[in-house]
Amino acid sequence: MTACAALLPFAASAQGQGLHVFACEPEWAALVKALAPQAQVTSATHARQDPHHIEARPALIAALRRAQLAVCTGASLEVGWLPMLQQRAGNGAVRDGAPGMFYAADQVELIDKRASVGFNEGDVHPEGNPHFQLDPARMAGVAQALALRLAQIDPPQAAAYASRHAAWQADWQQKTAQWQQRAAPLKGQRVVCQHATFAYLWQWLGIQQVADMEPKPGVPPTPSHLQAVLTRVQAAPPVAVVHTLYQDQQPAQWLVRQLGEGKTTLLALPSTVTDDGASATLDGWMDSLIAALLKTTNPR
Ligand SMILES: [Zn+2]
Repeated sequence: MTACAALLPFAASAQGQGLHVFACEPEWAALVKALAPQAQVTSATHARQDPHHIEARPALIAALRRAQLAVCTGASLEVGWLPMLQQRAGNGAVRDGAPGMFYAADQVELIDKRASVGFNEGDVHPEGNPHFQLDPARMAGVAQALALRLAQIDPPQAAAYASRHAAWQADWQQKTAQWQQRAAPLKGQRVVCQHATFAYLWQWLGIQQVADMEPKPGVPPTPSHLQAVLTRVQAAPPVAVVHTLYQDQQPAQWLVRQLGEGKTTLLALPSTVTDDGASATLDGWMDSLIAALLKTTNPR
């Protein structure tokens, strides 16, 4: 009799409280919490960690072992650590191809796909740019697919997931329109950044990234490359030099000093939701990104 239980899809308690979810990045943890507030969610990384490179710590292996659902970016963002975690966790529910392994990148179209990758080129993301959490429209696409997946994993709560998703989607759509309106002054503004992290945000808001502080994708800035960037942008300085919370701020600091702090703003932007503060939710995070960028265009 009890053997039959193993053949059934995971059935959480009537309240959905027993659902354990492993999220590779904080934006997916936040999205799961929005759609399944009672789920126990573990995020493998936080905003001050580089999601391309983390250590497969025992606590993460244990969290993946007890998960009924894992939500990750995919498109090889986690290729340096997730396969090892999956192997060590030995949890069939979250192996690739199982319904419990949800890759957000499989739900949306990616920009900047590469036909071929040369040897030793760093994190070039041949399957396309995986940092699409910075595009509200793609986030909406992921949310829709994730709500369906939650219902598949936890059938007794299917109706609850569907209604929460409908409410979330309506709210998100309204906010997306407001963000776009508020961010209108950012259109055509020029920025320098490190890595392709914010490419989707720039594309959405019409911001131009005029230089990348990385000499090659995934390779940290070098003095000679920074000098070349400075030479290229000096005549028309960008409004901001942007780095994430997990990147070393010294290269950006150096560039801003050379360009003149009155002209160019040094901007540390979270590339995902943070543990606390104004950016601790998906909409709060997007609000604060736009507010920080607007400040660079209207220094008062
Ligand atoms: Zn990347």
